[in-house]
Amino acid sequence: MKSDIHICSVWEQAHDRPVYTLEDSCPECGATAINTAPAPFNPDDPYGEYRRARKRDDT
Ligand SMILES: [Zn+2]
Repeated sequence: MKSDIHICSVWEQAHDRPVYTLEDSCPECGATAINTAPAPFNPDDPYGEYRRARKRDDT
């Protein structure tokens, strides 16, 4: 299953909440938008698991 929905790759720095888009770039800040389906934004992020677990509750 493939998602066409992308998320601003720097939303944590640039926005108060995740910015989703169907485009390849963020409509608000112009940063690269990445697919939401693949795993973590940052493999080194120690909070990645936690954020992924609660992402649906945040929206
Ligand atoms: Zn953005």
